Amino acid sequence: MYDVTITGGGLAGLALSIQLAKAGYRVALFEKETYPYHKVCGEYVSLESWNFLEDLGLPLSDWNLPIIRRLLMSSPNGQSLEHELPLGGFGISRYKLDAALADIARSSGVDLFESVKVTDIVFRQSQFEVQTSAGTFHSAVACGTFGKRSNLDIRWQRSFIRKRSERLNNYVGVKYHVKGDFPADLIGLHHFPNGYCGVSSIEDGKCCLCYMTTAENLRACGNSIPEMEKRILRRNPYLEQLFSSMQPLFAQPVTISRISFEKRTRVEGHILLIGDAAGIIPPLSGNGMSMALHGSKVAFQCINAFLRGQLARYELEQEYTDRWHRQFGRRMWMGRQLQRWFVSESRTNLLLSSLKSYPKLVSFLIRQTHGQPF
Ligand SMILES: Cc1cc2nc3c(=O)[nH]c(=O)nc-3n(C[C@H](O)[C@H](O)[C@H](O)COP(=O)(O)OP(=O)(O)OC[C@H]3O[C@@H](n4cnc5c(N)ncnc54)[C@H](O)[C@@H]3O)c2cc1C
Repeated sequence: MYDVTITGGGLAGLALSIQLAKAGYRVALFEKETYPYHKVCGEYVSLESWNFLEDLGLPLSDWNLPIIRRLLMSSPNGQSLEHELPLGGFGISRYKLDAALADIARSSGVDLFESVKVTDIVFRQSQFEVQTSAGTFHSAVACGTFGKRSNLDIRWQRSFIRKRSERLNNYVGVKYHVKGDFPADLIGLHHFPNGYCGVSSIEDGKCCLCYMTTAENLRACGNSIPEMEKRILRRNPYLEQLFSSMQPLFAQPVTISRISFEKRTRVEGHILLIGDAAGIIPPLSGNGMSMALHGSKVAFQCINAFLRGQLARYELEQEYTDRWHRQFGRRMWMGRQLQRWFVSESRTNLLLSSLKSYPKLVSFLIRQTHGQPF
């Protein structure tokens, strides 16, 4: 019998498990993959998370990571705009970040079950029964940190799964690590018809190149990624230059499909959902990693109060939902608006040329996409 079971060992799950274990609770964390592993992500972490990650035990200051202070945006027709990032971020691969957090979780006393998939979570007689590929576990609290789209979303037929495919809910993501001549303090955000591609430095002189586009774009190119890159992405002269000069470090890119930005619930069957499982912010306009980390802190505080007997279960669920909305509701709304504007080719061309004359508006928009240190 655990105090808390957590399904999904990405950033939200790992950070939550460490906070709970350090507070003295018995925690089980289930992750279907084995660390370290690559994940589709732009790998730009907003500096709002720096102190929180160091407090969890990550020696970020010792890792000589690139600190990113400037943004270069380009539109499909090759116009560009450069701007300072008011808060900025740092670059680190998920391969390194998640594995280092997993080490801290283990040494903090978390029972970390790798290569174990959760197949269902049932609430029965005031406790949770967690069914996994390694047997059944029980806990007083259950958390879902299973990311963008999981077998559990399908099993529970969550509302975003039931929505028919349309613009906001059918994206694909593609990521490469590359070597190339790219300034360490710059993040490039290059738009192409129905998508955008981020490129920024990570550890050891490598760069992460990651893009997101509609499933429609891929289908139109016979479901071939190289063909789509040639016919659609490389129409932007910045991307043409990047793709022809970079040296990919993977034989094949890491990919993910059926990404949906539809609204999601924060609690499902009494299970608290955290990180992407509670709502995905479009990567163009948000810092999903920092939101997942910050969400874990909010969840930890609520769960701690429940386990100490200061909140009843319905109060725990209400308190977590309210605090999630106060913290992230506005950012999510803004993220969806920007996503709508910036995937259209003509609107992106128009917006970028207009924004050049309004640097204060650019600063305002960038501030909406970063939170405050927590
Ligand atoms: C193309 C793209 C680019 C992005 N770029 C950035 C960026 O540059 N900066 C940024 O801040 N954010 C970015 N994001 C968003 C960021 O990746 C996510 O917001 C963040 O990873 C969310 O963390 P999480 O812990 O909620 O989920 P995840 O990190 O996805 O972790 C979920 C984990 O759950 C596991 N899992 C799922 N189902 C089960 C199961 N049934 N049993 C056991 N384990 C399970 C998965 O294997 C996974 O490890 C990007 C997203 C995309 C799609």
